[in-house]
Amino acid sequence: MAREQKIPILMYHSVSDSGDCAGLPPAFRPLGYRVGVSVFRDHLEALRRGGWSTILLRDLAAAREGRGDLPGRPVILTFDDGYADNLAAALPLLREGGARAVFFLSVSALESPGMLTWSGAAALGEAGMEIGSHGMGHDLLSGRDENDLRRELEESRRTIGERLGCPVEHFSLPRGYLPPVLPRLARAAGYRGLCTSRPGFNTLRTDPFRLRRYPVRTGLSGEGVAALLSGSGWRYRKIHFTETVRDRLRVRHGRPGGAAR
Ligand SMILES: [Zn+2]
Repeated sequence: MAREQKIPILMYHSVSDSGDCAGLPPAFRPLGYRVGVSVFRDHLEALRRGGWSTILLRDLAAAREGRGDLPGRPVILTFDDGYADNLAAALPLLREGGARAVFFLSVSALESPGMLTWSGAAALGEAGMEIGSHGMGHDLLSGRDENDLRRELEESRRTIGERLGCPVEHFSLPRGYLPPVLPRLARAAGYRGLCTSRPGFNTLRTDPFRLRRYPVRTGLSGEGVAALLSGSGWRYRKIHFTETVRDRLRVRHGRPGGAAR
């Protein structure tokens, strides 16, 4: 595979037909990020029709290190936070389509109402899915000192790895703000890569500690996914532009002393 070939990563949260997020812990209400079950099925169908093959982040890491090949059109599906519906609704559809995905768990959310249990998370791993860390809590990583960030990275990696008996090799940023020191700290903590919320495509040359992702928002149809992954056309440009603006605003507000929090 050419080192310049684009490798999209999609960021999902909850897959559910329920319009109600009230039962979930306050820090985990996927407003605007929940997709319906049949919509998720449409997304997987659009991937299949477009000739996309789902791979894991560890497959990407192996290919980057020259220890494995990627399929012609690789795409990585990631799920943040650890909603119970990831197991109940997303996993059966992934299995049906022979697809794989990466699930980023927030340690503080496990065993909470509407969120995965430890045994549910283990079942995802046993089904061949990759488990990553989304941190201990779900707080913005802005304005926190290095020791605190190190703890967030190391403790979550160790806790998830020990409880599930699997390697935890990737981290995804809670709330999208990337402290400049985090890539260095994540590497030192033993991770092989870090997913941001910055929109865009990756290649085998992309810094693995600054992987870009396109968020999947409520309302994105199967055709929308196909248009997004095509990387061209007005529909793609509109999504890319909107997400770029949102990301810049988030970065500004997440800055220490900024508007958010
Ligand atoms: Zn999150």
